[in-house]
Amino acid sequence: MTGEPLALYVHWPFCVSKCPYCDFNSHVRSTIDQDAWRDALLADLAHEARLLPGRTLTSIFFGGGTPSLMDPATVEAVIAAARGHWTADEQIEITLEANPNSVETARFADLAAAGVNRVSLGLQSFDDKSLGFLGRAHSAPEGFAALATAQKHFRRTSFDLIYALPGDTEDRWSATLAQALSLGTKHLSLYQLTIEPATRFASMVARREFEPLDADASAALFELTDAMASAAGLPSYEISNHARPGNESRHNLIYWRYGDYAGIGPGAHGRRLGRRTVRHKKPENFLSALARNGHGIAEEALLSPVDGADEALVMGLRLREGVDAQAIAERFGLPAIVDWDRVDRLVSSGHLGRAGARITLTARGRLLLDHILGEIAAIEEPRVLAVG
Ligand code: SF4
Repeated sequence: MTGEPLALYVHWPFCVSKCPYCDFNSHVRSTIDQDAWRDALLADLAHEARLLPGRTLTSIFFGGGTPSLMDPATVEAVIAAARGHWTADEQIEITLEANPNSVETARFADLAAAGVNRVSLGLQSFDDKSLGFLGRAHSAPEGFAALATAQKHFRRTSFDLIYALPGDTEDRWSATLAQALSLGTKHLSLYQLTIEPATRFASMVARREFEPLDADASAALFELTDAMASAAGLPSYEISNHARPGNESRHNLIYWRYGDYAGIGPGAHGRRLGRRTVRHKKPENFLSALARNGHGIAEEALLSPVDGADEALVMGLRLREGVDAQAIAERFGLPAIVDWDRVDRLVSSGHLGRAGARITLTARGRLLLDHILGEIAAIEEPRVLAVG
């Protein structure tokens, strides 16, 4: 008998330096006590496992930060403990995010031996000038070498690129993307550069040190990306993620389809049996919470049906397969989660597709996701029947 599926996210919060666009929970420290961190992650994992008995583990994702800086023995210990706590699916997907510099690439064989079977490489660009602008700690040749090494050691390899940099043109980006599509990968994450609050780039833009690419030019690059990747057999299955059919990230599909996932490590979010969990972000605070409480949780809350349905709609619409709005409403015991008249108007204007209760974004709609969500979301509270 198999239990309900479960994904596990493990956050490694350390990086060698802070990239100027990054708003992830990443920290630079001169020394890292790998033994202490292994013990902490194992204890945090055991806490989640106690609350989620009998599940079938379908994926593990080591994200960060830079998890390729983890000692492969720590990665192995976490995988072994997870396999001990739960029944692992035969096809379990175990992904690790890696940076493509030579020190980390040298660990790929050990990471594969530790059980990692999929790597997501942060190449970000094929051009040294852009890599310098993005503050990356690797060069373009190191990126290509890392990809070749990863393809040798791991069954599945994905890589990330960032586009819509200041001054990017359709010619320049299409040449980069054509090169990316020729490298034999079956999964690509293609992100537009966005200027996030409280990052170094946000201060630089405020000081007018550079100007981000304007919205129309970014939208044109997004459409070009979709067209080129689809023509090469890697259509998008999520706004920024492209794969040959069957090579989608199973782990990320669990998030977007609103399944349960345990999230451990500093700053990790999780979704456990209708509750949202958030770990302490600062590594030192996480370790002291763990010593005090036996877990690193900073906040845990039961999601109301309205909040749960809203999240499921927001996440699911990112996927090309879209959402079954009726199924979400039933799951959360709500009469409705969308205004169907507005949905139909957006179908007529070419922004949404609809088949029964299933709603999908069209290519045009994908550019306006936030706006469309604001238009259609109409989550009604459960009806309360008067008694007597
Ligand atoms: S390597 Fe990744 S997580 Fe670390 S600072 Fe750069 S973008 Fe952020």
